[in-house]
Amino acid sequence: MSTVEVCRDCGKLFGFLARGICGDCIDARELQFVVVKEWLRENPGASLAAAVAATGVPEPRMAEFIREGRLELAGAGPSPEEKRLEEELRARLVREIASRPVMGTSVSAAAGEPEAPHRRPGGGMRTRG
Ligand SMILES: [Zn+2]
Repeated sequence: MSTVEVCRDCGKLFGFLARGICGDCIDARELQFVVVKEWLRENPGASLAAAVAATGVPEPRMAEFIREGRLELAGAGPSPEEKRLEEELRARLVREIASRPVMGTSVSAAAGEPEAPHRRPGGGMRTRG
């Protein structure tokens, strides 16, 4: 029995989708990314709202690029409204990341000393050696 997967972009059914979206949508995404990247080269430091307006790439798609680490949100836009939109987007991304672990990304298993929530009884600060 084979599984059927739904492309999360266009909603069409496919037998197997390695990346959750179909080839057509991957192509479309790449095209959108190139458009945004080229536009940002001409407009470095532009706000997210400006990029959405200028390139026509919808904000959720921009958010995906940002989440994938392909785009970065620069500092605040010039207007408070644009700043607010960016803050909203950041908050949404944080919630999304928190609710859906991204493959290949691990924040646990840090090599250094973790900030232990449990304190040793009677323990003060101590150094070893
Ligand atoms: Zn698709």
